[in-house]
Amino acid sequence: MIHIQIHVSGIVQGVGFRPFVHRLAKTHHLMGVCFNSGEGVEIHVEGSETSVHAFLSNLQTQAPALAQIQKITATEGPVQAYSSFEIIESQTGSHETLIAADIAPCEDCVRELLDPQDRRYRYPFINCTNCGPRYTIIQDIPYDRKNTTMSAFSLCPDCEKEYTDITNRRYHAQPNACKCCGPQLEYIGNSTLNDPLKNAIQDLKQGKIVAIKGIGGIHLACDARDPQAIRRLRQRKHRETKPLAIMVKDLETAKEFVRLDPIEEKILNSPERPIILCAKHDPQACQDLSHTKELGIFLPYSPLHILLLQECTALVMTSANLHDLPVLIDNEEAKEQLKDIADSFLLHDRPIENRCDDSLMRIVNQAPYFIRRSRGYVPLPLTTQEDVSGILAVGAHQKGSFALGKDHQAFLSPYIGNMENLETFAHYHKALKTMERLFSITPSLVACDLHPDYTATQYAQSLNLPLVPIQHHHAHMASCMEDNQLHEPCFGIIWDGTGWGEDQTIWGSEFLIGDLNSYQRCGSILPIPLLGGEKAIHEIARIALAMSWQTDKEIALLEDSTQENLKKIGRHASVFSSGMGRLLDGFYSLITKKTHQTYEGQAPVALEAMAKPVAKRYPTAYQTKNKIRYFDWTPMVKACLEDTDPQEYKAQKIHNTLIQMAIEQTCALNPDHLPVILSGGCFQNQILLKGIISGLKKHGYRVYWHRRVSCTDEGIALGQLAIAQKRM
Ligand code: ZN
Ligand code: ZN
Ligand code: FE
Repeated sequence: MIHIQIHVSGIVQGVGFRPFVHRLAKTHHLMGVCFNSGEGVEIHVEGSETSVHAFLSNLQTQAPALAQIQKITATEGPVQAYSSFEIIESQTGSHETLIAADIAPCEDCVRELLDPQDRRYRYPFINCTNCGPRYTIIQDIPYDRKNTTMSAFSLCPDCEKEYTDITNRRYHAQPNACKCCGPQLEYIGNSTLNDPLKNAIQDLKQGKIVAIKGIGGIHLACDARDPQAIRRLRQRKHRETKPLAIMVKDLETAKEFVRLDPIEEKILNSPERPIILCAKHDPQACQDLSHTKELGIFLPYSPLHILLLQECTALVMTSANLHDLPVLIDNEEAKEQLKDIADSFLLHDRPIENRCDDSLMRIVNQAPYFIRRSRGYVPLPLTTQEDVSGILAVGAHQKGSFALGKDHQAFLSPYIGNMENLETFAHYHKALKTMERLFSITPSLVACDLHPDYTATQYAQSLNLPLVPIQHHHAHMASCMEDNQLHEPCFGIIWDGTGWGEDQTIWGSEFLIGDLNSYQRCGSILPIPLLGGEKAIHEIARIALAMSWQTDKEIALLEDSTQENLKKIGRHASVFSSGMGRLLDGFYSLITKKTHQTYEGQAPVALEAMAKPVAKRYPTAYQTKNKIRYFDWTPMVKACLEDTDPQEYKAQKIHNTLIQMAIEQTCALNPDHLPVILSGGCFQNQILLKGIISGLKKHGYRVYWHRRVSCTDEGIALGQLAIAQKRM
């Protein structure tokens, strides 16, 4: 007979962990106790050595679906001679345990949902300890029903029985509910069937647009196979060109639209249910959903979605929001703000406390490559290399984000959006305050971007805490280093649209050498004049013209008089950018003669989408000034203007040239073969990402890209956190 004390840390509260331990102890005929402690679950067991060891190994391998065990420690102690195994009262005052993310219905719940004999048959809010909403319904800690948006619903006797029965799958499942006692659907619209769900389904089948309240926000939905419905949705939402994601019934349906490899299938079907950008069978297909070669696909992640998709097998599901504002979560606000967009509404009376948009990723080299890390992942922390306690990193601007540090963990914000709007900042602020409360974090140090005008920077300054301003591209680099758990000196290739440089100009095609503490800028591209400043980001012809004027080639993109005026301004251009985004904007305009883009990133995405494989490229050239080696793009522009090949090949050659440039710069600037870091929003571009990775590997470089956070500005807070920790 031996006695073992076991400490389990990680996500082990509110996920059915103690009942699981109870069952496991019984299975192995062990006696003892189990309770929640300060940092997880504490277990004391006694029994034969073989049984205890079997128990220990099963603890790891058979843990409940939602549990995420970070560490198990076991120490032997004196035998207490317990006569039973029991769950005892939690140690009070412990607010240290982690909170799970929102998880798709488990297999058991799906089976019950579709079983006519089950008492929850077709009940759209079915859940259990292994699945269901978590972060989106929590208001305060500890994670108890009274501290969630389920507090208004009292359990009926049947649900109560499940809730208090340790052998039941719904033991202490906080959102537990049924038809009699739980949330109900509400339909607002013109259909007159006797069931809200059937009304919404009828509307969708008739090509109507339905606002549907989900887990972390409200979607606008329409039939994905009805081109007219899609066109109406785009017009009403003023979303003419941005790609739309579709939710499909199952993997079989997904395969009608896209090619899936086994990893994509696995992650599409994972409890997190992200949207994955997958390759279309035919790049020309589904142009009304997406102009690129990819289509965003996801599977139903709430019981309501499952019921809807049983009937409508492929739905466009896009966040219900207006003009770049945060996704709507409130019933009344939705009814008011969407009245001219949605034909009908399928809402419910379980409030969404914490807004959480759908996560979005690609699969790169068999692993997730986040574009947006949100629902299903937030608020799970990322492990950090150092103790980052008390640090708040406030992120950047276009894609707002924050990171809060505690011990060796970084808690990252859900998707926030463009910090230009007051409403977005309000969302940011609420999410920040919620996370501070949920994880008992009081910031004592703030990291922010160097840019003086960013809302987040100004917020950081207002906190009256020690402030660490961090250069934008250094933060990108540190984000990718922390993402890959690197701390030694690295060589960063950081390509994005805009970031404030140390010299008060706009940077964005940076080659940096440094570590988490400091960096040196050793390479970039020659700055591009932005005629009329910010205006050029939308009127990309201005960039193309400015680039062409550096060569002896003239092109006509705008009206003669406009071009003449711009040329005059051009001689005195005062705003310059070395952003890779701007270079791609300019080249896109040069080869397509398109003069505008409606949102930042549209032109580079279109340039990538149009490229047709060809091996050729344009020439490269370099100039070194003040110890910085600049890529001189003039010969490339000249060759591109002289090129008579079709646009599709030009687009590919532009990518090939930039890949070659990255490799030449790396060979010249990183002769010591420091690990190479790829970060910045331009590395959403798969041609650049994959081309640079494989090119550098051929030259014997170790190359690292993002795995846990986005390469865009959304991921920047993690880097700010890591740098602030070093400089503290
Ligand atoms: Zn379940
Ligand atoms: Zn009930
Ligand atoms: Fe950036």
